Amino acid sequence: MARLIIPCRSSSLARFNLLGLLSHAPVPVRSASLPFRNSAKRLTQYRPFLTSEVTCLRKNRFLSHSVDRYKQKSRKLICSVATESVPDKAEESIMDAPKEIFLKDYTKPDYYFETVDLSFSLGEEKTIVSSKIKVLPRVKGSSAALVLDGHDLKLLSVKVQGKLLKEGDYQLDSRHLTLPSLPAEESFVLEIDTEIYPHKNTSLDGLYKSSGNFCTQCEAEGFRKITFYQDRPDIMAKYTCRVEADKTLYPVLLSNGNLTSQGDTEGGRHYALWEDPFKKPCYLFALVAGQLASRDDTFTTRSGRQVSLKIWTPAEDLPKTAHAMYSLKAAMKWDEDVFGLEYDLDLFNVVAVPDFNMGAMENKSLNIFNSKLVLASPETATDADYAAILGVIGHEYFHNWTGNRVTCRDWFQLSLKEGLTVFRDQEFSSDMGSRTVKRIADVSKLRIYQFPQDAGPMAHPVRPHSYIKMDNFYTGKFLFARNYGILL
Ligand SMILES: [Zn+2]
Repeated sequence: MARLIIPCRSSSLARFNLLGLLSHAPVPVRSASLPFRNSAKRLTQYRPFLTSEVTCLRKNRFLSHSVDRYKQKSRKLICSVATESVPDKAEESIMDAPKEIFLKDYTKPDYYFETVDLSFSLGEEKTIVSSKIKVLPRVKGSSAALVLDGHDLKLLSVKVQGKLLKEGDYQLDSRHLTLPSLPAEESFVLEIDTEIYPHKNTSLDGLYKSSGNFCTQCEAEGFRKITFYQDRPDIMAKYTCRVEADKTLYPVLLSNGNLTSQGDTEGGRHYALWEDPFKKPCYLFALVAGQLASRDDTFTTRSGRQVSLKIWTPAEDLPKTAHAMYSLKAAMKWDEDVFGLEYDLDLFNVVAVPDFNMGAMENKSLNIFNSKLVLASPETATDADYAAILGVIGHEYFHNWTGNRVTCRDWFQLSLKEGLTVFRDQEFSSDMGSRTVKRIADVSKLRIYQFPQDAGPMAHPVRPHSYIKMDNFYTGKFLFARNYGILL
């Protein structure tokens, strides 16, 4: 993840100046889950904008999202499990209370996942998600329980080695599915069917539907809203993903990796089967389905492989993607020339939609962007807009190696993948433009946004000792960690 989009209350805050900076203002932010104890006492904080990270989506959107998130938090058990009795209010509040996660408590997982075969049947009212996971105990003969994360899911069935588990064979609460007794074998197959409701998902984490398109956001902990899983970055598996949906409403079906087959099914529906040959953590999983058109191009790697490049947008935005395609090809060439890193698949997809809340996300071979960070036309875009698109397209592409193929053990290491990749995108922008101007702009951002944060109640180490909600850590400190070290 590169860029948090923090919508502004005033559209006047959206303008970049020549150095790629935005005007800024402190805006009161009401947070229900601040990361630090001392901060949690205050309901209202003044959070300075990370202005280079910031793009105004539309007026007042931040406030409406905050309200949506609040409503979502207040009805978390609505979509919860159907096979358990609904907990009373006291139990509910205990289960939903944020839990502090400590770095010192890290332990290796008791079970690894080798392969994950996902199948999505996308629908207007509900989506059925089927997962088939090959599970490997870390220690042969382990009797440890397997604890899976899951939130806002309706469990339909669980099978182990093909045998359907009955109620009582597992434990279920609003955040976990626990399997206490598992086969003492070298490996076994776990199959789970769940039902989810993307059209009701206003958190914009997991799988959601917006403006008629299905879209995912799984970093940091969104995958647990798609299916029950060990939602932690040290669980790395090879994925396949079959997506099925109505052919007229969703002609484009995308996921990670290479497209291995596609075709029509009954009832006016169609499917696409995707296979990602490289292991990845679940936060890099992505799915997009909708009515999109693509700008197509190719890139020939230094070893002579031809990579198909596609930038997907709503059809009316396609003419504005020329600079993004130029930026992508420049980034691919630069990473080969400067870091010796070559793209590793036959296809690279970029999706730009207006309803993507996190700005940009480096999902393996399926980068998803907010339109603001991809679209540009000479009539309306400034030089700074063009420079920002170059930098962000480069940043997400560079994550293919720094973050994706080489990933984090846990979320305390977020600054490693972000700091290193920010360094790489800064070097890229410096080589493509003026190194001096770029450096002055980056240092200015640190002085304007990072230093005040470090002098205030939101100050925290680059690698914290604990957190309550990981989302709160996508701040300047992590994204600019490398600069910060140099300045100190
Ligand atoms: Zn990033």
